[in-house]
Amino acid sequence: MEGWVREILRCPGCGSPLRDGRRPDGEPELVCTGETCALAYPVRDGIPVLLVDEAYPSGGTV
Ligand SMILES: [Zn+2]
Repeated sequence: MEGWVREILRCPGCGSPLRDGRRPDGEPELVCTGETCALAYPVRDGIPVLLVDEAYPSGGTV
């Protein structure tokens, strides 16, 4: 993903920046850097799905 895109993306839950991650199954994800939030958002067909309803706890427990 382009850097400038990631810079403007924020977690809809807490407003923290997101970092690139990768799920255990190899799919990309965006992980919230907020310590109290730490949700991960899926990336489908290269498009980040920044919906709290679609988020799941980060840390490999998909
Ligand atoms: Zn967050």
